[in-house]
Amino acid sequence: MTSLKVPLAYDEARNLVSIEAAERGKAYFCPSCNTPLIFKHGAVKVRHFAHQPSEVCNQETITHKVAKLCIQQAVLDWKAGKARIPIVERACQICDEPIKLPIPSEIDNALLEHRLSDGSVADVALMINGSPIIAIEIRVSHAVDEIKAQRLTIPFIELDGIDVLENPATWLPIEDSLEPLLCNSCLSDYQQFETRMKLISAYTKVQLPESYYRYAPYHCWKCHKDMLVFSWPDIMMWNPEKPSKIPIPRTVRKGDYPYWGNFCPHCDSLQGDNYVHMRLESPFSPVNCEGDDPVSFKSDLMQIAHWVKDFELHPETMKFAIAARLWLLLHDWQPPYEWWMETTPERIVPATAYTFLTQQGWQWDAEKRYWFSPETGEIEDRTDLPDASTD
Ligand SMILES: [Zn+2]
Ligand SMILES: [Zn+2]
Ligand SMILES: [Zn+2]
Repeated sequence: MTSLKVPLAYDEARNLVSIEAAERGKAYFCPSCNTPLIFKHGAVKVRHFAHQPSEVCNQETITHKVAKLCIQQAVLDWKAGKARIPIVERACQICDEPIKLPIPSEIDNALLEHRLSDGSVADVALMINGSPIIAIEIRVSHAVDEIKAQRLTIPFIELDGIDVLENPATWLPIEDSLEPLLCNSCLSDYQQFETRMKLISAYTKVQLPESYYRYAPYHCWKCHKDMLVFSWPDIMMWNPEKPSKIPIPRTVRKGDYPYWGNFCPHCDSLQGDNYVHMRLESPFSPVNCEGDDPVSFKSDLMQIAHWVKDFELHPETMKFAIAARLWLLLHDWQPPYEWWMETTPERIVPATAYTFLTQQGWQWDAEKRYWFSPETGEIEDRTDLPDASTD
């Protein structure tokens, strides 16, 4: 058995000592099992603390223990004014922009192997006035098990043990149960979206739901007025059951294969589910509307806000996406073989369709958002919807 390497050791006073700060002739101990370590400082071998092969310790237990101590040390050094405040680095959940936030400044201690009220033990608990507020789990070989993560009554972050050793005061969670985070630009998009939704809600007198039913702005295909459309966790299963959560947005049950759909509060036209949910230009296309909890509800709305804005900033995208559908319609849904061979159909196929349509004299009406042919008088047909009965 070769000897183990220990990244940081205790000295006789139980201070954590880095390999750079270690001195010849002093005694050092394993932070995990207290075995005396050998300080290797020869010119040939890289400096390290060597740990005799042991029954108690292995490389994993050492990394795990030292990472916990490093976190605790980072908090205590900050509290003692010897180091900067530890930072948690997460990503904007929409655009992935890294966001660095200092930990709450009220944190006054970090305890190792602290028992929480649910009975589980946090590797490190960040404390305020004697109460744990964030649990930190260190992953060395396996993840925090799901049962434990679900039971935790306080938010947790899970850090990679090796990462912590390299950067004890900048924490990069592999997993966390913190609130989703937005960068400033995505946050302002979301706030604008909410303002706009409230305006459409007032204009149409359709109430904005506060949970479950995701919402988005829509442009009625028939009267071209602004309206709201809704989506919810069971909608995509062509579920004939009436949605159950109250308040139910104004919905309709459609035709031979009944499902609950959206309809226009101005002109009573059914807005086909395909158009509302399934197409590239659909406001709900980036989300699955899974989950009936506040976090997934809000997270979906943020995605929708971003998607809708993107479409409006790039109206070309909608023009191209609808062109692709019309092109298919004009060809009896028989796309040529090459279409399926294109590697990025979302980009290339609409461009092909666009070229074809404009060559055939079709034009795009940007305000009404449909294609029409001035020569033949044909208008992109979005009326192929069976009669809807309202409820
Ligand atoms: Zn040991
Ligand atoms: Zn962002
Ligand atoms: Zn309408």
